[in-house]
Amino acid sequence: MTGLYIHVPLCEKRCRYCDFYKLTPDEIDSMDLYLQCLEIELRRLPSDFAPDTVFIGGGTPTALTPDEYRKMLESIERRINLSQVIEFTSEANPGTLTPEKLQVMRDGGVNRISIGVQSFNDRALQLLGRIHDAETAITGYHMLREAGFDNVNVDLIQSIPGMKPDDVLSDAETAAGLQPDHISYYNLIYEPGTPLTKARDQGLVVPPGDDEEADNYYRVKMFLEEAGYLHYEISNFSKDQKACRHNVLYWQGGEYFGCGPSSHSHWRGKRFGNIADLKGYNERMLKDRKPFDDVEYLSKEEKARETLVMWLRMTDGFDLDEFEKTSGFSAYDLCGDGIESMIEENLLQRSGNRLRLTPDALFISNAVFAELL
Ligand code: SF4
Repeated sequence: MTGLYIHVPLCEKRCRYCDFYKLTPDEIDSMDLYLQCLEIELRRLPSDFAPDTVFIGGGTPTALTPDEYRKMLESIERRINLSQVIEFTSEANPGTLTPEKLQVMRDGGVNRISIGVQSFNDRALQLLGRIHDAETAITGYHMLREAGFDNVNVDLIQSIPGMKPDDVLSDAETAAGLQPDHISYYNLIYEPGTPLTKARDQGLVVPPGDDEEADNYYRVKMFLEEAGYLHYEISNFSKDQKACRHNVLYWQGGEYFGCGPSSHSHWRGKRFGNIADLKGYNERMLKDRKPFDDVEYLSKEEKARETLVMWLRMTDGFDLDEFEKTSGFSAYDLCGDGIESMIEENLLQRSGNRLRLTPDALFISNAVFAELL
């Protein structure tokens, strides 16, 4: 499986926690120019690249006007054979949806929407600097269903400062009550330099402690599982086999191209990231230059280590023989005594030939992965 990611570097406003590359409308001279340059980049993709999944993210793809969105989809369709694409996702911000825009998306082949709700708690949404409130998020979700989308993910953020444990559970209850096909439940990350991180460092915002965060995580996990969601990846839950195939492709070490500023690619053992600068990206595209500077070549061993921790993100873990066949390395040789000692510490679990994180290790997976590497 291979995937295509498109980065739309536009947001109506900057959320206080976000460090993704994006510009606000007053900072962009011409969206049309970006769309032309995106088309150039798409045309330059290798002729044997035929993705199984497409994911339009950002930024906020739905901050584009219907006409701009249509142009982007037409450029994608000129380069990609959409009849071979099994999943075509677009991210959506509830504050930017209109029936007209959703119709353009449906007509252009988008068959999955990931809606960035983040919380149904208005105070939390304000703290995050979102452009929408809870009511708009719920209206936006129904708009997606009315437009005919039958594969919808709701993004939630856990451990937002100020939310009590019952507020956290209430978010999960409201999300599950809407019956989306998929729920992503990510931890709030304090990225360096964001306004939220500065507010935390000044003591203006107080995050919940680790124990409270862990309790929230396991409480929500249990609730969503009881509500019929399969917990298939550390932060992701799905119903009816609707795991996000594009993200599963990343987690399984698949190859992909990213187009647009700040997007990343991994193709034939090489990795490269486009520059995070719209003007520079446009100039390079118009002058037929590469949109990235450095190419990283991972050694086979580095790639194997990375594959090992990515595969462990999936809650059913991986088959040790399959890992060896795919990576060329035995997991036990790669990690020395690490695996055995983690099994003793109840962080890893081996059943037959499968190795997975224990439920206790899910919340501290980053520490486990750091140890294994
Ligand atoms: S809408 Fe999304 S990409 Fe844009 S600033 Fe907010 S979190 Fe970041």
